[in-house]
Amino acid sequence: MHCAYAIIGGSSTCSIRFPADLHDAAVKVLEENRIFNTPFGESPPFTLFELDREPVITCRMHGWRSGVPRGRASQQIFWVMKEAGVHTILAEGGVGSLREDLNPGDLVIPHDYIDLSLRKDVSLSDDYLLIMRDPLCPPLRAALIAGAEQVVPGRKVLGEAVYAVTEGRHFESRSEIRLFSQWQITVVGQSLAPEVYLAREIGACYAGVYLVVNYAEGTAGDWSHDVLHNLFYSEAQTMGQILICALRNRIHSPGDCSCASLRKPSLIKKHLS
Ligand SMILES: [Zn+2]
Repeated sequence: MHCAYAIIGGSSTCSIRFPADLHDAAVKVLEENRIFNTPFGESPPFTLFELDREPVITCRMHGWRSGVPRGRASQQIFWVMKEAGVHTILAEGGVGSLREDLNPGDLVIPHDYIDLSLRKDVSLSDDYLLIMRDPLCPPLRAALIAGAEQVVPGRKVLGEAVYAVTEGRHFESRSEIRLFSQWQITVVGQSLAPEVYLAREIGACYAGVYLVVNYAEGTAGDWSHDVLHNLFYSEAQTMGQILICALRNRIHSPGDCSCASLRKPSLIKKHLS
């Protein structure tokens, strides 16, 4: 199986069968529930489909198997992508906003991140030194911004933001969020790392679109769980359409970037061998 494009589904498309439920004429689902054996254990189920006749693989990051740690799940997914020859990966998810003017329902396409999770040792090998300059591919972000503007014209789309990755599963305390604000963090969530490292390790471009589902604690009073719950279901189609639209933009207009050259052979390994 050779496949250059991949989509990692997060919480925002969790409530639909992606991409089948979009009923998009340009999407042809080839196979669902394909499981791969990997050195890190059995992969989650993948869906294979064609978009404008270009093969794409997709899987869910959340909610597919209990008892498999997130780091291990990421290794399984990225091993499959490496073997398939994936060079472009889109992701999505839900985030909390640290800005009063960035509201539930708004969209964010981050350009950088701060990793506060405990999963920094997740990798497929120790072969590479990973340079995290421009970690979210600029042309791929542009494709997502254009996709969002095409699918939901008029919706607020923040095209630059710093995403703080926390360990979870719980949300953050008021004091943590106050500290994050001082660090110029825009949104907080629990995906993006280690995926962003693993994408760089396999030499792929990576970027994501994130739906604001609540205000981070203490940002704008007490946020409503009902709003979060409703967005989880009501925006799934929209988020799926944005991913498909962005991927189509990318397939037809890839743009130049330096993602693939920001991994270098590890000097330490060479020195030790
Ligand atoms: Zn790139």
